[in-house]
Amino acid sequence: MPPDPVPISALQHWTYCPRQCALIHVEQAYADNIHTARGNAVHKLVDTPGYEMKAGVRVERSLPLWSDRVGLIGKADLVEFHPDGTVFPVEFKNGPKRKHVHDDIQLAAQALCLEEMLNKPVPLGAIYHASSKRRREVSITPDLKRLVETTTEAVRATLVSGKLPAPVNDERCDQCSLKDICQPEAIAGLRAQAYLRNQLYEP
Ligand code: SF4
Repeated sequence: MPPDPVPISALQHWTYCPRQCALIHVEQAYADNIHTARGNAVHKLVDTPGYEMKAGVRVERSLPLWSDRVGLIGKADLVEFHPDGTVFPVEFKNGPKRKHVHDDIQLAAQALCLEEMLNKPVPLGAIYHASSKRRREVSITPDLKRLVETTTEAVRATLVSGKLPAPVNDERCDQCSLKDICQPEAIAGLRAQAYLRNQLYEP
């Protein structure tokens, strides 16, 4: 039996912060900030399913994706189908051209799904950075594919357990729309107090 499918978006959330992933995918928490609002605006450009032809390239928008082998489900913002048989996924991101592993893992998961669905290699894809209107090409390396598989397993285990991981409580929290819900400083303070209490009363 194939493993329970994990949403591809959860891999990106997990790689950014495991607690953020659990808040969204276990507790269904949601809050907007300037970063999510800009991201939503960027995805509006590509969230209507359909296709167009551009210089002989068929460009599919909002294409459903899955992998029974790894247990993934989601969609690709754009997939280019070139006349020479090349299949090339493109993920839209808000922000300037900058490498982020949480973006790359999402693209690699899409490539892995396309490989299984189409039974052909998908060795390259790109992140389209909306602020700079530039593409950053990403090689779908064996290491990146392995990271997709191990991250999928870690996310699935958290979804099954329903437990919230500890807050990272670092500079990532400043950009996170869930900061008010998560309360990373308060929880880190409680954990520190519990640690001190345990030290104090240790026989
Ligand atoms: S506020 Fe920080 S710890 Fe909490 S979910 Fe966001 S990034 Fe993670």
